[in-house]
Amino acid sequence: MKSESQKPKTVVVTIDENSGFCFGVVNAISKAEESLHNVGHLYCLGDIVHNSQEQERLSKLGLEVITHQDLKNIHNAKVLLRAHGEPPETYRIAQQNSNLIIDASCPVVLRLQTKIKQAFETNPDAQIVIYGKVGHAEVNGLVGQTCGKAVVVENEQDAEELNFSKDIVLFSQTTKSLEGFNRLIDFIKKRMQGSATLVFYDTICRQVANRVVRIKRFASNFDLIFFVSDKKSSNGKVLFEECCKVNDNVHFISSAKDIDISLLKNVKTIGICGATSTPKWLMEDVEKEIYLKTENLL
Ligand code: SF4
Repeated sequence: MKSESQKPKTVVVTIDENSGFCFGVVNAISKAEESLHNVGHLYCLGDIVHNSQEQERLSKLGLEVITHQDLKNIHNAKVLLRAHGEPPETYRIAQQNSNLIIDASCPVVLRLQTKIKQAFETNPDAQIVIYGKVGHAEVNGLVGQTCGKAVVVENEQDAEELNFSKDIVLFSQTTKSLEGFNRLIDFIKKRMQGSATLVFYDTICRQVANRVVRIKRFASNFDLIFFVSDKKSSNGKVLFEECCKVNDNVHFISSAKDIDISLLKNVKTIGICGATSTPKWLMEDVEKEIYLKTENLL
C-alpha cells in the first residue's frame, strides 16, 4: 500500500500570484499590526478589509471595529482610518475628542480627494460627478471634499438626472471598471448642451483595473476555478464575474470550508484566485484543503 506521501497527486492546484491584497490594504494592515504590537488595542473605523476571516485574525490581536456613530463617543484613544479614506468631518470629530488618528488612507485615494477638492474650489458652479457606488466608504470620503455637493452616479440611468446645460467635472471611484467609466463618458458627452463643458479624469486605480485582464487570463487556464472572497467585497463581485466570462466552472467560496468535494471529481487542474481583499493565507488554506480532499477521493 502506498504511504500518503507516495500517493499520486490527482490534481495540480495553482494560486494566482496577482490575486490578494493591493498595496493600499497591505499598508493599512501593517500599520494596524504595528500599532497593535505596541499597545494591544486599536479602534478601526469600519472594516479594515472586506474579508471577515482577516477581520477575525486582527480582532484577536486587539483591533476593534467601530462605526462613525461610535466615534462621536470615543475620547483619548487611537483610531485607525482604513485605506478607503475619510471625509474631513471624520478628522474633525476625532480631533475634537482628542483621539490620535493613525491614517492608513491609501495614497491613491488621498490624491483623488485632493483633486476633487481642487476641482470643487476652482469651479464652484460646475457639477462634480463621481462614478461610484452610493454609500461606499471611499465615495463618502470623496463627496466630503465638496461639502456633500458632489453627485454620485452608478450608471447611465442615474446620469439622466444631471443638468447637461451646466459644466460637469467627472471622476471615478478607484475600484470601478474602466469599461463602465468609458460608457458613462460617452453617454454624458452626447447630451452636453450649449457651451457647457465636460471634463473627466480617469481616476481608476490600476491595481484593480489591471487585475481584470490578468485574472481572466489566469481563469481561462484551468478546469476549475475557486474564487475566494468575502460576499461583502464589491471588488470581489466584479472579479468573480470576469472569471465567469472565460470559464464556465468558476465557484465563489469564502473559505476552505465551502469547497464542495463533488466538484473535485474528474478535474485535473484547479486555479485559486480572489479579490484585492482576499488574504494570501486564505487561498493557501483552500489549496491545502483541495489536496486533502482529493487524496480522500483516491
Ligand atoms: S485598490 Fe488602489 S486605491 Fe484602492 S486601496 Fe488598493 S491601491 Fe489604494
